[in-house]
Amino acid sequence: MSELLNVHELRVAYGQIHAVQGVSLTVAEGERVCLIGANGAGKTTLLKAIAGMLPPLGGSVHFAGQPITHKPSHQIVPLGIALVPEGRGIFSRLSVAENLAMGAYIRRDKLAVNQEIDTIYQRYPRLGERRAQPAGQLSGGEQQLLAINRALLSRPRLLLLDEPSMGLAPLMVKAIFGTLQDAHQQGVAILLVEQNAHLALSHSDRGYILETGKITQHDSAAELIANTDIKKAYFGE
Ligand code: ATP
Repeated sequence: MSELLNVHELRVAYGQIHAVQGVSLTVAEGERVCLIGANGAGKTTLLKAIAGMLPPLGGSVHFAGQPITHKPSHQIVPLGIALVPEGRGIFSRLSVAENLAMGAYIRRDKLAVNQEIDTIYQRYPRLGERRAQPAGQLSGGEQQLLAINRALLSRPRLLLLDEPSMGLAPLMVKAIFGTLQDAHQQGVAILLVEQNAHLALSHSDRGYILETGKITQHDSAAELIANTDIKKAYFGE
């Protein structure tokens, strides 16, 4: 598998608060990688810096061999990186259909986009039924499905997800991870940030542990699931 994302010694700060302190990680083409860490470990900051939403203080980010470290997000999306942010980033007053259309704004093949949107409506009838209604009227889980499908409409090679399972009922979590599994089967690489470590690892090939801005461990998901220290610290056992 060839390398798709390479983050090297990345540092990001908010004034005096050094939220990301020299993080290095990689994601290969089509690979599923998760980033696990407690509240405030720096997970959101790291994803935002990769997506061009926060300027790094130091280090580098390469995507498909190209440096993207200081590129703004509007230049990064067309290269093939889509972020599903914490809190989903849905435009709640816009309709479901308008939210989906925004995901495809960089694409010229509008016919194919419309077909993909129809497929989304068939697969998720609740989104189809409510296509003309404000997205803010959807349940939290439906909004998360909308946010992920909107991101996928940009045809990313890498999908970044910030806590997609947060606050959702088990059935919705299952639907969300089903959608991610389909994206993976279509070759999309995934970098998933989660506090729910067991859930994240059981849907990943590899995992990194982030503690107060630094990677303290990384391994295959199977090794991390079997690791007693990780279990104690992150599985609530
Ligand atoms: P959570 O699970 O709570 O989202 P996280 O692992 O995503 O946590 P970050 O949100 O990246 O962590 O925060 C990392 C550190 O940076 C924390 O100490 C946090 O308080 C701080 N921080 C985050 N955003 C800001 C900001 N806008 N201004 C100042 N400090 C911030």
